[in-house]
Amino acid sequence: MTKLLHRTIGATLPRAVSGQGVTITDSDGRAYIDGSGGAAVSCLGHNHPEVLAAMTTQMNAISYAHTSFFTTDVAEELAQRLTALAPDSLDHVYLVSGGSEAVEAALKMARQYFVEIGQPQRRHIIARRQSYHGNTIGALATGGNAMRRAQFQPILPETHHVSPCYAYRDLQTGETHAQYAARLADELEAKIQELGADQVMAFVAEPVVGATLGAVPAVEGYFKRIREICDRHGILLILDEVMCGMGRTGTIFAFEQEGVVPDLVTIAKGLGGGFQPIGAVLLSRKIFAAFRDGSGLFQHGHTYIGHPIAAAAANKVVEILTRDGMMAHVNAMGDRLQSGLETALGQSPYVGDIRGRGLFRGIEIVADKDSKDPFDPKLKTYAKIKKAAIARGLLCYPMGGTIDGVHGDHVLLAPPYICTPHDIDQIVDRIAAAINDVT
Ligand code: PLP
Repeated sequence: MTKLLHRTIGATLPRAVSGQGVTITDSDGRAYIDGSGGAAVSCLGHNHPEVLAAMTTQMNAISYAHTSFFTTDVAEELAQRLTALAPDSLDHVYLVSGGSEAVEAALKMARQYFVEIGQPQRRHIIARRQSYHGNTIGALATGGNAMRRAQFQPILPETHHVSPCYAYRDLQTGETHAQYAARLADELEAKIQELGADQVMAFVAEPVVGATLGAVPAVEGYFKRIREICDRHGILLILDEVMCGMGRTGTIFAFEQEGVVPDLVTIAKGLGGGFQPIGAVLLSRKIFAAFRDGSGLFQHGHTYIGHPIAAAAANKVVEILTRDGMMAHVNAMGDRLQSGLETALGQSPYVGDIRGRGLFRGIEIVADKDSKDPFDPKLKTYAKIKKAAIARGLLCYPMGGTIDGVHGDHVLLAPPYICTPHDIDQIVDRIAAAINDVT
């Protein structure tokens, strides 16, 4: 009997024994195409030789040095690399060990910023319903996924939520995208007024919603309206790119496609590519300056921040992401995935929407395409699709359930960026077959 507490107790899981490129092989010799990079993590696939070599070099030099005693070349280099890729105003980097830690650090930075600049009354966080920002207490409270929050609600700090930008379901008949963006902006403005504009600290959002909605980008102009509102009220904009960042949507940062620059941005999954657990917060010059000119420290820290082996892996991952036309390849493969899915599944009465950007694509499954009525949650359609895909040798990331009163099933695809056209075609064939098996 296992002594390991698994996510689902009693589940019989295959044992992963090796990984190569886009493929994971289990102890029975079965090979799976990693069509979701785990949970949008393995951006360079498995066992990338250059990343392994960079980690080995660092391990042979020094594996760990506490950040209260030392800095390291690899951590400094990573901060340089990330700030060089970011807009000029995002000019410092804080390293952590994963996505939830990045979100927690960003929230604490926002709070400390206002304390440092003499606005300690600012304490409210506004985020969006049907969002996911992590599983630690602060990140969970920020997320708007009622299902994940339910039993922990009594111990979560107070946060506030407005509607997500989810055109497939919420765009009204006859409404343009610009009108929809304005309606959502008005809702945020009203929430800010209700809480008191000088009491609000930050607005938090995923530029492309991952786990809770399945690769849903905002409509054009939405983030520009949000940025204006935050600026008008002196509120910090935190963009959570833990899932959609690091090239996943075809640009290194997803916000580049929105024409806005956040005050804080969180990244994780694709940063370490699964080779090491690592995350980061990029913070703006004004936040850094407030810390430097104020208390002179950021009142935070974990034992493993700036871990040298993680930083070495991330340096190599970022180097590879930014060379040899990798982003152009992500866009080309993303277009191929989108059009392949549309051809294979566009006629299905059970596929309501196929969407996303770059190699970050979502398929929304419905019981009726015209009414957009979802399948009965009891059917657990998403779980059945996952099982059918695995039976066909494909790993995908389906989610479902009732989130804030809205039920939906969707499948997230996030293949490694190193995938070939042939890999994409295999993913399309297998996911289409799995969906058709179940619906
Ligand atoms: N933020 C977003 C947008 C995520 O998708 C996730 C994880 O899926 C997290 C935060 C939490 O990251 P982690 O699981 O590394 O703690």
